[in-house]
This record gives sequence, C-alpha cells and structure tokens, in this order.
Amino acid sequence: MHCPFCRHTDSRVIDSRTADDGTAMRRRRQCPECNRRFTTIETASLAVVKRSGATEPFSRNKVLVGVRKACQGRPVSEDALARLAQRVEEAIRAQGSAEIDVHEVGLAILGPLRELDEVAYLRFASVYQGFDSLEDFESAIALLRAEQEPTGQEPDPAGLGAPPVRGGTTTS
Ligand SMILES: [Zn+2]
Repeated sequence: MHCPFCRHTDSRVIDSRTADDGTAMRRRRQCPECNRRFTTIETASLAVVKRSGATEPFSRNKVLVGVRKACQGRPVSEDALARLAQRVEEAIRAQGSAEIDVHEVGLAILGPLRELDEVAYLRFASVYQGFDSLEDFESAIALLRAEQEPTGQEPDPAGLGAPPVRGGTTTS
C-alpha cells in the first residue's frame, strides 16, 4: 500500500484489529521511508444493484445522507444517525451476499429508522415506498399506532392463573 504522505510504494502493517463487529479490519501502517503512520480499513466488497441494473459499491455514507435528509428538523443527533448507518451496514453484511438490491438497502433502513424517529420514518417510507395519497400516510400511521398499543395484561378474574404458593413443606 502506498504511503499517503510521501507516496512511497510500500508500507508496513504494525497493528490489525477487527472493527464494526467484525465487518471491517482496521490496520495501522507505517511508511518505512518517512516513518509516518496511517490507518486503512478493509471491508469485504459489497455491491449495490441499482434500479437501472448498474452496480456501485455499497456506501455507508449514502445511507447516512438519506436518513439525515429524512431526519431534518427532528431531534436526532448526528451520533444517532452514524449508529443507524452502521447498524444498517452490519445488517446487510450479515446477510453474507456480495451483491444486494438497492431495494433491500431501503428495507434495512426502515426498521432502525422507525425506532429512532417515527416522523423521519414516515418521511423516508413515503419516498421509499412511493406514497402518493393521504390514504398511504393514514395506513402507515395506523400501522404505527396499532403496533404501539401496549400489550394489555390478560385479566385473571377468578384468580385461576397462578397456583397458590405453598408455605413450608412438611415431612411426616
Ligand atoms: Zn511515507
């Protein structure tokens, strides 16, 4: 690997460790010529197949740009966005394919984004799933509401549920 400082054609690895839960390898390198150090990050190549059929390398940054746009004006920190993009990338890489459809990237974003901010989720889903009427929003919101309903405790009117706990045991 060329030194990014002096362009020397070789460098020496002085430390390697996995990063991002094993989906990346981070290497610390040193240039034997200028002695400066730099870090490289190695990930398995992952291609995204676009709607046109063309492929491009997966970019966590593109995920970040997309969710940041959906989160505009929402109380979501840049840190939370970065964590979300990382989660999305890890989920996609965990599938183990070298190539994924752009549609699956969108799907992988929906779940974590919904946990992060429901308004941002609706914005993202409206673009991603092509909402074109109020009804689309209404049904998406109804779905969110339905899933928010607390799972009410089953009433136990007769107290038939748990058997009474016996006091001590006696032996004869
Ligand atoms: Zn150098």
